[in-house]
Amino acid sequence: MSHFTLVIHGGAGTILKEDMTFELEQAYLQVLQSSLNAGYGVLEQGGSAINAVKAAIVVMEDNVLFNAGRGAVFTKKGVQEMDAAIMDGNNLKAGAVAGVRNVRNPIVLAMEVMNNSNHVFLSGKGANDFAIKQGVKLEPDEYFYSQFRYDQWKAIRDSDNYSLDHTNHHLEELMRDKKFGTVGAVACDMHGNIAAATSTGGMTNKKYGRIGDSPVIGSGTYANNKTCAISCTGHGEMFIRAVAAYDVSCLMEYKGLSLHTAMQTVVNDKLIKMGGEGGMIGVDADGNYAMVINSEGMYRGAKNSEGLNEVLIYK
Ligand code: ASP
Repeated sequence: MSHFTLVIHGGAGTILKEDMTFELEQAYLQVLQSSLNAGYGVLEQGGSAINAVKAAIVVMEDNVLFNAGRGAVFTKKGVQEMDAAIMDGNNLKAGAVAGVRNVRNPIVLAMEVMNNSNHVFLSGKGANDFAIKQGVKLEPDEYFYSQFRYDQWKAIRDSDNYSLDHTNHHLEELMRDKKFGTVGAVACDMHGNIAAATSTGGMTNKKYGRIGDSPVIGSGTYANNKTCAISCTGHGEMFIRAVAAYDVSCLMEYKGLSLHTAMQTVVNDKLIKMGGEGGMIGVDADGNYAMVINSEGMYRGAKNSEGLNEVLIYK
């Protein structure tokens, strides 16, 4: 039996210990651990990497602490529009959705797109219609409401600014104190297959149907057994322009870089030069893994069959 690995993130950004209460820190660590346990449980029972990443993401989508599913941020119009993608490194199949509303678990819908739609990427009302057809669970607007997200949006809704997920401060602080609460997971299963998944509410006060990097295959999410599985978090516009996730794969495939060196090159060289704040998690088909950030922190965790089990927040 070969080894298996699961790595997750709950978003990167200016996450500082001095801004955190003990209770909130514990709450984050607990959800991260539950997410790890859910995905790892699938791997331990011989399940596939694709099912493991889905299981890990669902736990974080169901928790209001993360900017995905239930905790998704408000758009300019005061609603939630969510993006998600999933990719199977074994066969390069992928499914993605953008701008979907009232879907409890956008990652489940992305998986339906991958398996049952003959397409890769659905958006807006069409994606919602498909969710209804497939019987994917929907929730009323109230399910996605939290005072914390509402206050966050209220602070900037009358401006033209949009911002990454952050705590409830004044506008200047909001723009400085950047946090990206997107969630992601990558896994290598005992059969040597790898997969990646990412889910997000995008950016607070986003408008015109803005879509970030998370659901864009190759930018925020990518998986290929030959190289790596990657899930990103950060300022999506830069990650799209950098084709960040696929660039890691290319550096491995065409330049022979290791997973860790390739991720370092993209996050701490290429993205920094573009002003692209954030980070990413990755695994390869040998079960090697890495978590790389160029920001102050990233909610993250890793668990593998060698006995590793860690959840981390700060740099
Ligand atoms: N990358 C996401 C986006 O731009 C934001 C995040 O990572 O939190 O939509």
